[in-house]
Amino acid sequence: MDRVNVYEVAPRDGLQNEHEVVPTEMKVAFIERLIAAGYTDIEVSSFVRPRWIPQLADASDVVARLPRDTGVTFWALVPNRRGLERALDAGMHAVATFMSASETHNLKNVNRTTRESLAGLREVIATAVAEGMRVRSYISTVFGCPYEGHVDVERTVHLAGELLAAGADHISLGDTTGMAHPQQVFDVLERLQGAGIPLDRLTLHMHDTRGTALANILAGLQAGIRTFDASVSGLGGCPYAPGAAGNAATEDLVYMLHGMGYETGLDLDAVCEAGLFIEDALGRKLPGRYHQYYRGSLDRRGARTA
Ligand code: MG
Repeated sequence: MDRVNVYEVAPRDGLQNEHEVVPTEMKVAFIERLIAAGYTDIEVSSFVRPRWIPQLADASDVVARLPRDTGVTFWALVPNRRGLERALDAGMHAVATFMSASETHNLKNVNRTTRESLAGLREVIATAVAEGMRVRSYISTVFGCPYEGHVDVERTVHLAGELLAAGADHISLGDTTGMAHPQQVFDVLERLQGAGIPLDRLTLHMHDTRGTALANILAGLQAGIRTFDASVSGLGGCPYAPGAAGNAATEDLVYMLHGMGYETGLDLDAVCEAGLFIEDALGRKLPGRYHQYYRGSLDRRGARTA
């Protein structure tokens, strides 16, 4: 059976965009539920400066409390050399770097030009690889920029090639504000493949801001992509538009994949339970469609009437 890997981003990309700061023990309990659901890859936190993202200031404590020998690869986001050092000190074996394809988004996000970011990340990646770590590199705003609009795909082709050459083993192509449509997904992937970048080194990180995340993922699947980023229950809104949807919801994706006959290794009900857990912890309704269906069906059966 054809296998698809779902890379879970909720503990990092989800929680960093939530207003509420979730206590460390609650984060660990959430990640333990994700581990039990059958993931191979979970992005657990971020070693960016705590002042930038107070929601994830406890990254080292979270990592220290994670169970050992689970067979799951735990990933953490690192912005620069200092973040990498903190990740190493915490005992991480896998890190994710990030930069944007569009100049303006990169400047606003990390206060550097894309040229400066790339130079810095080359060094970070080389150091991480020398330390025996796995590295994935996010490229944001691949399918459009909230400031510039259209982003030339050649910028992504260039960055992806450079980041892979520096030692990253995967590039995650981010539709940061959910601007992509399926034809664009086909086109971008074709250009990357044409430039010699193999599809098995690429991941799609789609956002549902305009309701197209799952359609875009399906396009990626049809084009041959077999790794997708997703966030339980669509955790993490859109930082550019309060109230709007953000990350593609894991449950929606897994339901679709299993229905189509793909194997993910995930137990959909266990993923749903993790979603209910974090929704209760946050005390706000999460946007995932399957998540809402699941909660509604339990409520109707009286299993969760509080
Ligand atoms: Mg995201």
